[in-house]
Amino acid sequence: MDLHATLREYWGYDTFRPKQQEIVESILAGLDVAVVMPTGGGKSLCYQMPAIASGRLCVVVSPLIALMQDQASQLAQLGVQAAVLNSSQEQEERKGVFRKLFRNELRLLYLSPERLAIDSTVEWLSQCNPAYFAVDEAHCISEWGHEFRPEYRQLALLRDRFPDAPIAAFTASATRKVRHDILSQLKLREPRTFITSFARKNLNYLVRESSKKEKEKLLLRAIRHHKGESVIVYCPTIKLVEETAAMLNDRGVSALHYHGKLDADKRRTHQEQWMNGEADVMVGTIAFGLGINKPDVRAVIHLSLPKSPEQYYQEAGRAGRDGLAADCILLWSRGDIGVLVSFIDKLEDKANKDAAWQRYHAVKRFVENDTCRMRQICEYFGESPKSWSTCGECDLCNGLPEWMQKDDQPARRIVYDAGVSNAQLASMKSWRRDFAKKNHVLPYVILHDRTLTELLIRQPATLDELIQVPGIGPQKARKYGEAILEALFVALET
Ligand code: ADP
Ligand code: ZN
Repeated sequence: MDLHATLREYWGYDTFRPKQQEIVESILAGLDVAVVMPTGGGKSLCYQMPAIASGRLCVVVSPLIALMQDQASQLAQLGVQAAVLNSSQEQEERKGVFRKLFRNELRLLYLSPERLAIDSTVEWLSQCNPAYFAVDEAHCISEWGHEFRPEYRQLALLRDRFPDAPIAAFTASATRKVRHDILSQLKLREPRTFITSFARKNLNYLVRESSKKEKEKLLLRAIRHHKGESVIVYCPTIKLVEETAAMLNDRGVSALHYHGKLDADKRRTHQEQWMNGEADVMVGTIAFGLGINKPDVRAVIHLSLPKSPEQYYQEAGRAGRDGLAADCILLWSRGDIGVLVSFIDKLEDKANKDAAWQRYHAVKRFVENDTCRMRQICEYFGESPKSWSTCGECDLCNGLPEWMQKDDQPARRIVYDAGVSNAQLASMKSWRRDFAKKNHVLPYVILHDRTLTELLIRQPATLDELIQVPGIGPQKARKYGEAILEALFVALET
């Protein structure tokens, strides 16, 4: 089987990312695998490709409906038959999925863990004879992790009820303890384990202790620095989310907000507007983000200390999934420490409390130590990088960028002027926004930012030339090729 040809045909990429090919080959060989790969590393391709290459069914267990739908719609764009089954679907839609399933037309079926635990699900699934199971966000199975989901425990039934189907577990964040837990809970059989580095070279970790006033000033500067780009701002409380969003709007930044107390409709529209690129800045509590895989987030800004390094790594890690440079900015103050301590003091269970103290000390070390931030993160996750000692990008390796350094400049009102430095890119982005809306998908599902830039550099004029552009495979070219060439022609004229 020529996996490179499949990579080219469906994804439009020429080379695999580290470990991807080995993982795909292991799954195809019928082995259990456990994969720890950072956000943006390219995990989805690892479990999607074996299904496409073998023409068989893969059942993906994933914790969030939004995440499943996003993946299914991305696969549809690649010309791959994928579907989601969840409780909020209409009867008719569900019937449609079953029809395809029993005709063996589906390559990927996304299910929630709750759904899988229902007896009838196991029965009809057995009739579909799935080739293998993929468990996404596998750390949710462990109580030692920071996102424990009791319903994940039910996944133990996979091994018992489908003894012949290999299981592939994926996670972006797992300490050694959590990794062991994943293997034993899922009853993996001599799994091949793949751990790629936690170092994400495109992320610049920038940490600064600042007073409340300074936080506000630096936040405005950060947003000005990332003008016209997607940004997430995390605040510790709902009150602060609302105050911060209001402050930004007063200053001329159109910022949206998101938290658990917002009604469901508002939450959805805010999320959609941000995902669509109608607004650049989202201010949220940690409720915002799980399942958000917008590839072109250029900065994630924290306005207080996170509770654990895992939490920080995962939230900050939402920046730069597309592999292009992005900033992870952590602005903290001594007051944050008091808040964390009082939170831990309230915990009653001793084991919980001890674990919370350990995380607290690790967070404190992360911001106070003078060792490269990236290295500290790697070491926290049990990795000891040998090929490098400093990342060369974080504030400790490279110093703070000029715009983050102290000075007496007052915070200015941010003016969004029309003359964008790059009119051609802006033209492509605005075409993409409209075109995506017409096709009822998200802009990045049509083309990634990276591909837009490549198009402007290579300037293909024919479909044959278009297929040479990384990120555009024959499947996508067939679907959207004419429209892309037309939009490019217009953009190059501007
Ligand atoms: P993860 O689930 O590990 O966070 P994704 O599966 O979302 O990562 O992939 C992150 C990004 O990397 C996606 O935009 C994806 O299209 C891209 N990608 C994956 N594999 C490759 C590859 N071999 N070459 C180029 N880009 C890739
Ligand atoms: Zn560094």
